[in-house]
Amino acid sequence: EAKEAGKARHAVFEPSMYAAIVQRLQLEADIRMAAGAPERSGLFLAYQPIVDLRTGAVRGLEALLRWDHPTRGTVTPSVFVPVAEHTGVIVPLGRWVLEQACTQLMAWRTQWWRERRQPDSVPSVSVNISGRQLAEEDFVDEVAAILQRTGAPAGSITLEITESVIMRNTESSLRTLSALKALGLRLAIDDFGTGYSSLSYLQKFPVDVLKIDRAFVEGVAQGGSDAALARTIVTLGTTLGLRTVAEGVETSSQQEALEAMGCVDGQGYLFSPARPVDEITAWLRVQTGSLAIAV
Ligand code: C2E
Ligand code: MG
Ligand code: MG
Ligand code: MG
Repeated sequence: EAKEAGKARHAVFEPSMYAAIVQRLQLEADIRMAAGAPERSGLFLAYQPIVDLRTGAVRGLEALLRWDHPTRGTVTPSVFVPVAEHTGVIVPLGRWVLEQACTQLMAWRTQWWRERRQPDSVPSVSVNISGRQLAEEDFVDEVAAILQRTGAPAGSITLEITESVIMRNTESSLRTLSALKALGLRLAIDDFGTGYSSLSYLQKFPVDVLKIDRAFVEGVAQGGSDAALARTIVTLGTTLGLRTVAEGVETSSQQEALEAMGCVDGQGYLFSPARPVDEITAWLRVQTGSLAIAV
Protein backbone atom coordinates (compact mmCIF):
# COMPACT_ATOMS: atom_id res chain seq x y z
CA GLU A 1 0.00 0.00 0.00
CA ALA A 2 2.50 2.52 1.26
CA LYS A 3 4.86 1.47 -1.45
CA GLU A 4 2.20 2.01 -4.09
CA ALA A 5 1.26 5.40 -2.70
CA GLY A 6 4.92 6.34 -2.69
CA LYS A 7 5.25 5.21 -6.22
CA ALA A 8 2.21 7.21 -7.26
CA ARG A 9 3.50 10.31 -5.53
CA HIS A 10 6.85 9.86 -7.15
CA ALA A 11 5.27 9.42 -10.57
CA VAL A 12 3.66 12.86 -10.32
CA PHE A 13 7.05 14.47 -10.80
CA GLU A 14 8.04 12.19 -13.61
CA PRO A 15 8.34 12.55 -17.14
CA SER A 16 5.26 14.55 -18.15
CA MET A 17 5.62 17.15 -15.44
CA TYR A 18 9.35 17.42 -15.94
CA ALA A 19 8.75 17.87 -19.66
CA ALA A 20 6.18 20.59 -18.98
CA ILE A 21 8.63 22.51 -16.79
CA VAL A 22 11.40 22.24 -19.36
CA GLN A 23 8.98 23.37 -22.08
CA ARG A 24 7.94 26.36 -20.04
CA LEU A 25 11.55 27.36 -19.30
CA GLN A 26 12.41 26.94 -22.95
CA LEU A 27 9.49 29.13 -23.96
CA GLU A 28 10.63 31.79 -21.48
CA ALA A 29 14.14 31.69 -22.91
CA ASP A 30 12.80 31.71 -26.49
CA ILE A 31 10.54 34.70 -26.04
CA ARG A 32 13.33 36.59 -24.27
CA MET A 33 15.66 35.89 -27.20
CA ALA A 34 12.97 36.70 -29.75
CA ALA A 35 12.15 40.04 -28.12
CA GLY A 36 15.81 40.99 -28.59
CA ALA A 37 15.53 40.55 -32.36
CA PRO A 38 11.80 40.36 -33.17
CA GLU A 39 11.96 40.47 -36.96
CA ARG A 40 14.59 37.77 -37.22
CA SER A 41 12.81 35.56 -34.70
CA GLY A 42 9.53 35.26 -36.56
CA LEU A 43 7.59 37.83 -34.55
CA PHE A 44 5.35 40.11 -36.60
CA LEU A 45 2.13 42.07 -36.36
CA ALA A 46 -1.12 41.08 -37.98
CA TYR A 47 -3.98 43.58 -38.26
CA GLN A 48 -7.67 42.95 -37.69
CA PRO A 49 -10.22 45.49 -38.93
CA ILE A 50 -12.75 47.16 -36.66
CA VAL A 51 -15.79 48.03 -38.74
CA ASP A 52 -19.04 49.96 -38.56
CA LEU A 53 -21.63 47.23 -37.89
CA ARG A 54 -24.22 48.86 -40.14
CA THR A 55 -22.18 50.03 -43.13
CA GLY A 56 -19.06 47.88 -42.90
CA ALA A 57 -16.88 51.01 -43.12
CA VAL A 58 -13.44 50.45 -41.61
CA ARG A 59 -13.05 52.26 -38.31
CA GLY A 60 -9.71 50.93 -37.18
CA LEU A 61 -7.12 48.19 -37.33
CA GLU A 62 -6.02 46.29 -34.22
CA ALA A 63 -2.38 45.19 -34.23
CA LEU A 64 -2.04 41.63 -32.88
CA LEU A 65 1.27 39.89 -32.26
CA ARG A 66 2.01 36.74 -34.22
CA TRP A 67 4.91 34.36 -33.80
CA ASP A 68 6.06 31.94 -36.46
CA HIS A 69 8.61 30.16 -34.34
CA PRO A 70 11.46 28.58 -36.33
CA THR A 71 11.02 25.16 -34.68
CA ARG A 72 7.76 25.27 -32.72
CA GLY A 73 5.69 26.54 -35.63
CA THR A 74 2.93 29.03 -34.89
CA VAL A 75 2.73 29.97 -31.23
CA THR A 76 -0.47 31.75 -30.22
CA PRO A 77 -0.37 34.99 -28.21
CA SER A 78 -2.61 33.43 -25.57
CA VAL A 79 0.39 31.16 -24.85
CA PHE A 80 3.40 33.47 -25.25
CA VAL A 81 1.98 36.85 -24.14
CA PRO A 82 1.32 35.63 -20.57
CA VAL A 83 4.88 34.22 -20.47
CA ALA A 84 6.26 37.53 -21.76
CA GLU A 85 4.21 39.34 -19.11
CA HIS A 86 5.32 37.03 -16.31
CA THR A 87 8.99 37.47 -17.17
CA GLY A 88 8.77 41.20 -17.91
CA VAL A 89 9.88 40.65 -21.53
CA ILE A 90 6.58 42.25 -22.58
CA VAL A 91 8.09 45.64 -21.71
CA PRO A 92 10.71 45.75 -24.50
CA LEU A 93 8.50 43.59 -26.75
CA GLY A 94 5.52 45.90 -26.26
CA ARG A 95 7.70 48.90 -27.05
CA TRP A 96 8.67 47.21 -30.32
CA VAL A 97 5.01 46.47 -31.08
CA LEU A 98 4.03 50.11 -30.62
CA GLU A 99 6.90 51.39 -32.72
CA GLN A 100 6.17 48.82 -35.42
CA ALA A 101 2.46 49.75 -35.50
CA CYS A 102 3.24 53.49 -35.67
CA THR A 103 5.73 52.87 -38.47
CA GLN A 104 3.15 50.81 -40.36
CA LEU A 105 0.52 53.52 -39.92
CA MET A 106 2.94 56.03 -41.46
CA ALA A 107 3.72 53.65 -44.33
CA TRP A 108 -0.01 53.34 -45.09
CA ARG A 109 -0.48 57.11 -44.83
CA THR A 110 2.37 57.70 -47.28
CA GLN A 111 0.97 55.07 -49.66
CA TRP A 112 -2.54 56.47 -49.43
CA TRP A 113 -1.22 59.97 -50.02
CA ARG A 114 0.65 58.87 -53.13
CA GLU A 115 -2.27 56.91 -54.51
CA ARG A 116 -5.20 59.15 -53.68
CA ARG A 117 -4.00 62.17 -51.74
CA GLN A 118 -5.94 60.94 -48.71
CA PRO A 119 -3.61 60.03 -45.85
CA ASP A 120 -6.35 60.80 -43.34
CA SER A 121 -8.55 58.07 -44.76
CA VAL A 122 -6.17 55.48 -43.32
CA PRO A 123 -7.95 54.06 -40.27
CA SER A 124 -6.51 54.49 -36.82
CA VAL A 125 -4.37 51.69 -35.44
CA SER A 126 -5.00 50.04 -32.06
CA VAL A 127 -2.22 48.56 -29.96
CA ASN A 128 -2.61 46.31 -26.91
CA ILE A 129 -0.76 47.48 -23.82
CA SER A 130 0.03 45.10 -20.98
CA GLY A 131 -0.23 45.96 -17.30
CA ARG A 132 3.52 45.55 -16.95
CA GLN A 133 4.09 48.29 -19.55
CA LEU A 134 1.55 50.62 -17.99
CA ALA A 135 3.26 50.24 -14.61
CA GLU A 136 6.66 51.31 -15.97
CA GLU A 137 7.56 54.72 -14.65
CA ASP A 138 8.71 56.01 -18.04
CA PHE A 139 5.87 54.48 -20.07
CA VAL A 140 4.30 57.79 -21.07
CA ASP A 141 7.71 59.21 -22.06
CA GLU A 142 8.42 56.09 -24.12
CA VAL A 143 5.13 56.49 -25.95
CA ALA A 144 5.81 60.17 -26.61
CA ALA A 145 9.29 59.30 -27.93
CA ILE A 146 7.86 56.65 -30.29
CA LEU A 147 5.27 59.09 -31.65
CA GLN A 148 8.02 61.62 -32.18
CA ARG A 149 10.40 59.18 -33.88
CA THR A 150 7.80 57.72 -36.23
CA GLY A 151 5.84 60.91 -36.84
CA ALA A 152 2.57 59.05 -36.18
CA PRO A 153 -0.28 61.41 -35.27
CA ALA A 154 -1.33 60.61 -31.69
CA GLY A 155 -5.01 60.90 -32.63
CA SER A 156 -4.62 57.97 -35.03
CA ILE A 157 -3.31 55.63 -32.34
CA THR A 158 -5.61 53.86 -29.88
CA LEU A 159 -4.12 52.10 -26.87
CA GLU A 160 -6.12 49.09 -25.63
CA ILE A 161 -5.83 48.27 -21.97
CA THR A 162 -7.84 45.51 -20.33
CA GLU A 163 -10.44 46.41 -17.76
CA SER A 164 -8.81 44.19 -15.13
CA VAL A 165 -5.46 46.00 -15.52
CA ILE A 166 -7.07 49.43 -15.23
CA MET A 167 -9.10 48.46 -12.18
CA ARG A 168 -6.16 46.78 -10.40
CA ASN A 169 -4.74 50.10 -9.35
CA THR A 170 -7.27 52.78 -10.09
CA GLU A 171 -5.36 55.81 -8.79
CA SER A 172 -2.18 55.18 -10.77
CA SER A 173 -4.22 54.08 -13.82
CA LEU A 174 -6.04 57.39 -13.69
CA ARG A 175 -2.77 59.32 -13.63
CA THR A 176 -1.19 57.35 -16.47
CA LEU A 177 -4.29 57.38 -18.66
CA SER A 178 -4.68 61.12 -18.18
CA ALA A 179 -1.06 61.67 -19.24
CA LEU A 180 -1.58 59.50 -22.34
CA LYS A 181 -4.78 61.37 -23.14
CA ALA A 182 -2.87 64.65 -22.85
CA LEU A 183 -0.54 63.37 -25.59
CA GLY A 184 -3.62 63.10 -27.81
CA LEU A 185 -3.94 59.32 -27.89
CA ARG A 186 -7.24 57.50 -27.96
CA LEU A 187 -7.85 54.99 -25.19
CA ALA A 188 -9.93 51.82 -25.20
CA ILE A 189 -10.89 49.49 -22.36
CA ASP A 190 -10.36 45.96 -23.68
CA ASP A 191 -12.33 42.86 -22.63
CA PHE A 192 -14.94 45.03 -20.95
CA GLY A 193 -17.43 43.25 -18.72
CA THR A 194 -14.98 40.80 -17.20
CA GLY A 195 -13.04 43.07 -14.87
CA TYR A 196 -15.42 44.27 -12.17
CA SER A 197 -15.32 47.96 -12.97
CA SER A 198 -16.07 50.45 -10.33
CA LEU A 199 -18.63 52.61 -12.09
CA SER A 200 -17.55 55.77 -10.30
CA TYR A 201 -14.01 55.24 -11.64
CA LEU A 202 -15.19 54.38 -15.09
CA GLN A 203 -16.74 57.81 -15.25
CA LYS A 204 -13.44 59.44 -14.25
CA PHE A 205 -11.22 57.56 -16.69
CA PRO A 206 -10.48 59.57 -19.85
CA VAL A 207 -11.30 56.68 -22.20
CA ASP A 208 -12.90 56.84 -25.64
CA VAL A 209 -13.92 53.26 -26.36
CA LEU A 210 -15.36 50.23 -24.54
CA LYS A 211 -14.65 46.88 -26.16
CA ILE A 212 -17.35 44.39 -25.20
CA ASP A 213 -15.70 41.08 -24.34
CA ARG A 214 -16.28 38.21 -26.73
CA ALA A 215 -17.87 36.21 -23.92
CA PHE A 216 -21.00 38.42 -24.05
CA VAL A 217 -21.04 38.70 -27.83
CA GLU A 218 -21.16 34.93 -28.21
CA GLY A 219 -24.72 34.52 -26.93
CA VAL A 220 -25.98 37.93 -27.91
CA ALA A 221 -28.39 36.63 -30.56
CA GLN A 222 -30.01 34.13 -28.17
CA GLY A 223 -31.38 36.76 -25.84
CA GLY A 224 -30.81 35.65 -22.26
CA SER A 225 -28.17 37.00 -19.88
CA ASP A 226 -25.39 37.50 -22.47
CA ALA A 227 -27.69 39.73 -24.47
CA ALA A 228 -28.85 41.57 -21.37
CA LEU A 229 -25.25 42.22 -20.30
CA ALA A 230 -24.18 43.34 -23.78
CA ARG A 231 -27.14 45.71 -23.89
CA THR A 232 -26.20 47.09 -20.46
CA ILE A 233 -22.62 47.74 -21.63
CA VAL A 234 -23.82 49.52 -24.79
CA THR A 235 -26.17 51.67 -22.71
CA LEU A 236 -23.37 52.41 -20.27
CA GLY A 237 -21.10 53.42 -23.15
CA THR A 238 -23.74 55.66 -24.65
CA THR A 239 -24.43 57.28 -21.27
CA LEU A 240 -20.73 58.01 -20.79
CA GLY A 241 -20.31 59.22 -24.37
CA LEU A 242 -18.06 56.32 -25.37
CA ARG A 243 -17.99 54.25 -28.53
CA THR A 244 -18.67 50.57 -28.02
CA VAL A 245 -16.91 47.93 -30.07
CA ALA A 246 -18.18 44.33 -29.97
CA GLU A 247 -15.34 41.78 -30.00
CA GLY A 248 -15.54 38.37 -31.64
CA VAL A 249 -18.52 38.90 -33.97
CA GLU A 250 -18.78 35.64 -35.93
CA THR A 251 -22.34 35.51 -37.28
CA SER A 252 -24.72 37.91 -38.96
CA SER A 253 -27.35 37.24 -36.29
CA GLN A 254 -24.87 38.51 -33.69
CA GLN A 255 -24.17 41.52 -35.90
CA GLU A 256 -27.89 42.29 -36.21
CA ALA A 257 -28.56 41.86 -32.49
CA LEU A 258 -25.68 44.18 -31.62
CA GLU A 259 -26.77 46.76 -34.13
CA ALA A 260 -30.31 46.68 -32.73
CA MET A 261 -28.85 47.41 -29.27
CA GLY A 262 -27.14 50.53 -30.58
CA CYS A 263 -23.62 49.12 -30.68
CA VAL A 264 -21.84 51.03 -33.46
CA ASP A 265 -18.67 49.08 -34.16
CA GLY A 266 -17.64 45.46 -34.29
CA GLN A 267 -14.68 43.21 -34.85
CA GLY A 268 -14.60 39.52 -35.63
CA TYR A 269 -14.18 36.68 -38.08
CA LEU A 270 -17.49 37.66 -39.75
CA PHE A 271 -15.67 40.69 -41.15
CA SER A 272 -12.05 39.57 -41.21
CA PRO A 273 -9.50 37.75 -39.07
CA ALA A 274 -6.19 39.45 -38.27
CA ARG A 275 -4.06 39.38 -41.40
CA PRO A 276 -0.38 40.12 -42.14
CA VAL A 277 0.49 43.53 -43.59
CA ASP A 278 0.42 42.58 -47.29
CA GLU A 279 -2.96 40.91 -47.02
CA ILE A 280 -4.58 43.60 -44.90
CA THR A 281 -3.24 46.28 -47.24
CA ALA A 282 -4.90 44.50 -50.18
CA TRP A 283 -8.09 44.10 -48.10
CA LEU A 284 -8.05 47.83 -47.28
CA ARG A 285 -7.74 48.69 -50.97
CA VAL A 286 -10.81 46.59 -51.77
CA GLN A 287 -12.71 48.58 -49.13
CA THR A 288 -11.92 51.78 -51.04
CA GLY A 289 -15.56 52.87 -51.23
CA SER A 290 -15.78 52.76 -47.46
CA LEU A 291 -12.45 54.32 -46.61
CA ALA A 292 -13.80 57.57 -45.22
CA ILE A 293 -12.97 57.24 -41.56
CA ALA A 294 -14.44 59.04 -38.63
CA VAL A 295 -12.00 59.97 -35.90
P1 C2E B 1 -7.48 40.91 -27.43
O1 C2E B 1 -6.69 42.17 -27.43
O2 C2E B 1 -8.78 40.93 -26.72
O3 C2E B 1 -7.65 40.52 -28.95
C1 C2E B 1 -8.77 39.89 -29.50
C2 C2E B 1 -8.50 38.42 -29.75
O4 C2E B 1 -9.68 37.82 -30.30
C3 C2E B 1 -7.41 38.16 -30.80
O5 C2E B 1 -6.79 36.94 -30.43
C4 C2E B 1 -8.22 37.96 -32.06
O6 C2E B 1 -7.53 37.24 -33.07
C5 C2E B 1 -9.38 37.19 -31.52
N1 C2E B 1 -10.57 37.29 -32.37
C6 C2E B 1 -10.92 38.27 -33.20
N2 C2E B 1 -12.10 38.03 -33.79
C7 C2E B 1 -12.52 36.83 -33.33
C8 C2E B 1 -13.69 36.02 -33.56
O7 C2E B 1 -14.59 36.37 -34.33
N3 C2E B 1 -13.76 34.85 -32.88
C9 C2E B 1 -12.79 34.44 -32.01
N4 C2E B 1 -12.95 33.27 -31.40
N5 C2E B 1 -11.69 35.19 -31.76
C10 C2E B 1 -11.55 36.36 -32.41
P2 C2E B 1 -5.20 36.77 -30.46
O8 C2E B 1 -4.62 37.50 -31.63
O9 C2E B 1 -4.92 35.31 -30.31
O10 C2E B 1 -4.73 37.54 -29.16
C11 C2E B 1 -5.13 37.12 -27.88
C12 C2E B 1 -4.77 38.15 -26.84
O11 C2E B 1 -3.34 38.27 -26.75
C13 C2E B 1 -5.26 39.56 -27.15
O12 C2E B 1 -6.63 39.70 -26.79
C14 C2E B 1 -4.33 40.36 -26.28
O13 C2E B 1 -4.78 40.36 -24.95
C15 C2E B 1 -3.04 39.57 -26.37
N6 C2E B 1 -2.15 40.22 -27.35
C16 C2E B 1 -2.04 40.04 -28.70
N7 C2E B 1 -1.11 40.86 -29.23
C17 C2E B 1 -0.60 41.60 -28.20
C18 C2E B 1 0.39 42.63 -28.09
O14 C2E B 1 0.98 43.11 -29.07
N8 C2E B 1 0.63 43.12 -26.83
C19 C2E B 1 -0.04 42.65 -25.72
N9 C2E B 1 0.26 43.19 -24.52
N10 C2E B 1 -0.98 41.70 -25.80
C20 C2E B 1 -1.27 41.18 -27.02
MG1 MG C 1 -7.23 44.11 -27.82
MG1 MG D 1 -10.24 41.97 -26.13
MG1 MG E 1 -8.84 39.22 -24.83
